[in-house]
Amino acid sequence: MPHDAVIIGGSYAGLSAALQLVRARRRVLVIDDGRPRNRYAARAHGVLANDGRPGAEIAATARAQVAAYPTAAFRMAEAVDVARVDGGFSVVFADGTRTTGRRLLLSHGVEDVLVDIPGVKERWGRTALHCPWCHGYEVGGGPIGVLGRGEMAAHYAATVAEWGDVTLFLDLDNALSPENARLLYRRGVTIEPTPIARLEGEAPTLTGARLVDGRFVPLKALFVGAAVRIACPFAETLGCDMTDTPLGRIVKVDATQQTTQPGVFAAGDLARAASNITLSTSDGLTAGHALFRSLVEEETA
Ligand SMILES: Cc1cc2nc3c(=O)[nH]c(=O)nc-3n(C[C@H](O)[C@H](O)[C@H](O)COP(=O)(O)OP(=O)(O)OC[C@H]3O[C@@H](n4cnc5c(N)ncnc54)[C@H](O)[C@@H]3O)c2cc1C
Repeated sequence: MPHDAVIIGGSYAGLSAALQLVRARRRVLVIDDGRPRNRYAARAHGVLANDGRPGAEIAATARAQVAAYPTAAFRMAEAVDVARVDGGFSVVFADGTRTTGRRLLLSHGVEDVLVDIPGVKERWGRTALHCPWCHGYEVGGGPIGVLGRGEMAAHYAATVAEWGDVTLFLDLDNALSPENARLLYRRGVTIEPTPIARLEGEAPTLTGARLVDGRFVPLKALFVGAAVRIACPFAETLGCDMTDTPLGRIVKVDATQQTTQPGVFAAGDLARAASNITLSTSDGLTAGHALFRSLVEEETA
């Protein structure tokens, strides 16, 4: 096996795991095709010591630091298939070539499944946002919309209310519990039951939402509780158990980021219900240490 670990997804989670492993002088291959989830946002926020720095720049610094270790290898390519083989795993690339490694770390992230409202897609990461902790401060107050689903929307809107005057666009057919109605009232949230027809303004700028009844609600930003989808089928191909969360299906892991399949680890957005750069980095570190321990256990058995 040319590699102790093959890592599919070389962003925050994958690079964090790689850093731990190459520092342990293990041979690591990081595979990445350059599509991190936050690529739509100009800057990343809430990341200690990197607040306001472009997300791509943070990842590039991390990549350069990992690459400085002699046992690190990179392949900028798309992985299209994985399989368990004798002694480890094989990974197939889009051009048909393949590689093998003793352990596999899945850190290829998730995709956001955006609501089908005209104007959301072209503003994603700029004025149509997913996380108030990441981008709420930069909105700078004023009228903010929240688009949510079910009871979760109430807590989402109550949080976003810290950063502006919130209108929650909510389908009231999903009746709000008295507790959540009280929470929204106390947070000063206005509930708008009429659906949005489209977002208006010159994208990525947002001036407001046009409702299906023709009314216009001025907005500086719209927070969207998007569902997520794991785009690559690798975990399922390998027989890893999955787990359902309110935002979508993710890979089931234990406290050390080990999946239910021996030798397969998962870290970052694809293995946690809600995530950010810091949490993905932390998961990657945990996975790197656990993966290392599993190699040592095999070598000393
Ligand atoms: C618009 C937006 C803005 C955000 N802003 C912030 C912010 O300000 N602060 C913050 O902390 N968090 C922010 N986040 C959240 C943050 O982006 C994620 O939590 C973080 O990127 C997750 O890291 P990850 O390593 O798990 O996955 P990702 O960063 O998504 O990386 C996955 C990597 O795997 C690669 N990959 C996928 N499939 C394959 C394949 N088949 N073969 C090879 N490579 C593959 C991709 O190219 C990608 O580089 C934002 C999210 C969004 C959607």
